[in-house]
Amino acid sequence: MTGIAGRTLRGAVSLVIFTLCGVVTLPALSAEPPKVVLLTGGDPMQAAVLMQTQAIRSVLNAELPLGSETFLDTLDGLRFGADWLTPELFALLRKKYDGQHIDLVIAIGNYAAEFARTHHAAIWPGTPVLVTSVPEAWLRRTGEFPSTFVLMPYRIEIGKTLAIAESLQPEATHLVVIGGSAELDARFSDEIVEAAALRRDKWTSIERWEGLPVPELRSRLAKLDKHTTAVLYGTQYRDQGGRRYFPFELVNRTAEDAPVPIYGWYANYIDQGAAAGAVYDLEENGRMTGEIAARMLMGDKTYQTGAVAPALPARCIANIAVLRRLGISERSLGPDCKWLNVPLPPYREYWKEMAVALFVIGAQAFTIVAMLRQRRERRIAERKAATRHADLTRASRIATVGELSASIAHEVGQPLGAILSNVDAADLMMQASDNSDAELREILTDVRRDALRANDVIVRLRALLQKQAITFAPVTFDTVLERATSLVRPEARRRGIVVHTQFGTNEAQVLADQVQLQQVLLNLAINALDAMENAEQEDRELSITTRIAGDGLELVISDQGIGIPQDNVDQLFEAFYTTKERGTGLGLSIVRSIAEAHRGSVYARRRSGGGTEFVLWLPLASTMLNPVHCADIETASA
Ligand code: ADP
Repeated sequence: MTGIAGRTLRGAVSLVIFTLCGVVTLPALSAEPPKVVLLTGGDPMQAAVLMQTQAIRSVLNAELPLGSETFLDTLDGLRFGADWLTPELFALLRKKYDGQHIDLVIAIGNYAAEFARTHHAAIWPGTPVLVTSVPEAWLRRTGEFPSTFVLMPYRIEIGKTLAIAESLQPEATHLVVIGGSAELDARFSDEIVEAAALRRDKWTSIERWEGLPVPELRSRLAKLDKHTTAVLYGTQYRDQGGRRYFPFELVNRTAEDAPVPIYGWYANYIDQGAAAGAVYDLEENGRMTGEIAARMLMGDKTYQTGAVAPALPARCIANIAVLRRLGISERSLGPDCKWLNVPLPPYREYWKEMAVALFVIGAQAFTIVAMLRQRRERRIAERKAATRHADLTRASRIATVGELSASIAHEVGQPLGAILSNVDAADLMMQASDNSDAELREILTDVRRDALRANDVIVRLRALLQKQAITFAPVTFDTVLERATSLVRPEARRRGIVVHTQFGTNEAQVLADQVQLQQVLLNLAINALDAMENAEQEDRELSITTRIAGDGLELVISDQGIGIPQDNVDQLFEAFYTTKERGTGLGLSIVRSIAEAHRGSVYARRRSGGGTEFVLWLPLASTMLNPVHCADIETASA
């Protein structure tokens, strides 16, 4: 054996590849895929080992034309200790590979490298060995390796990790070094303490915790202060009680609620909750190992035995989520430090929830806008309908008055005739010059009375026909209805019908528009007159009665006319229902809508003894807190 590795490491570690002229027969590629043994010192399912072996396998299969046949042998010396099992492992592997041709052995980690160095010639004689994932410092200590070995060391850069801790915790002066009880663990802790001792100016006190079981470790960590103390963790494969771990497990179980950052060197430490470190990337190592192994198998002269690949540099990696939890700013880290677990800004982390919320808000806003729009349109429609209704009501009033025109003409004509006669009489008296002042004054009094009578008719008619705003105000029920009755009387007289009235509500008031209230009476009374058109003389009687009914007032108009069939009482109030040749069928429907707008009601019933009775009921003004629909007032006044 020559001291290739030793020399190389001592002399020129920083060279990219240093090739020496060891002579080894590399397999010529045949029709068979090359056979490769992967020898690990750890549990094959340990994340670090798995990451490496998977990367090696996939690179080999990708780079080699026929792929490779790989066999994994695990020695697990890291956790079980090496020496006491080594003879049996050696015997087992020698038996296993006896008579087998192996093209390459890849030894991963210190224990596998040591095992291969000692036993490769007996188990895999003549087979080249690629040693990977061994710390550079260990290689230096271990000394020479056979010339058939190619070496791929890595560098645990404790100094770099300490520098990261110093930049993140500039005020901390106390350093806690956590390590396990296994031999490798202790060596690791030694190295950390040595490296920290070089920075005595910064780390004035260094404490070593060795092989503490998890609960104790947690309680000790909980008492630390991030302002004064930094924690570096090497490895803990075993604790004082002999319990075995994968090193990352300790981070996983302690870092989560530790009040101080824990620094380390393996990528999976940082994944599991360590804060930061100068990290040796095992996956990258696996990929590079696979590439060098593939080249060796293809006979690349660069990698003929004795070569030493430069140690992979450690890279700064920081777990930003952990630093933020501890309230430590990551700003002091250099620009080439890789950030892991950077918490997403809320809009990215909760974008789904926010999208749903925005959608809901948008949908609500849309619905609200649509509803407001609908409400506005409904109001406009209501206003239009009410305007139309008001127009129709007025048109109906004009038509009713039209029906009364003959009697109105008579009503106005009579006083005018009387005025004329009185004026003639006065004229004669003045011509005869036998006038006495007293007689002339009497004539003038008559003229004035008749003029007022005619004027009164016209005033009442104008009030009925004028286009004016509908106003709801407290009005005396009887007074308003008596005024309307006076318009009906002449028409009844003209038709030979006697009008009986009985106004019995005293001074009781309703909240009403008086023109509309009069219109109700006119419509009902004229219908009653129509119904008695062919009635016998003794039946030609129209009765108009008012009375108090509960908390309202009633107007009852009854006739002894043709009557109504019982089964179509409701139909009478439908618009356009008429049995009259020149009827419009609007009178009763308008009466009903006026009654409803006044929060009242109207109905028809047969009169005992023949004929019909229409009953209007309106609430007393004193009972109306909110008397009428705003829309009715607003729109009806259009
Ligand atoms: P119109 O008088 O133009 O026909 P109305 O709506 O006022 O319209 O009346 C509808 C119908 O109700 C009348 O055509 C008539 O058949 C019936 N009616 C109304 N009042 C009476 C009444 N007092 N007696 C009998 N029938 C009536």
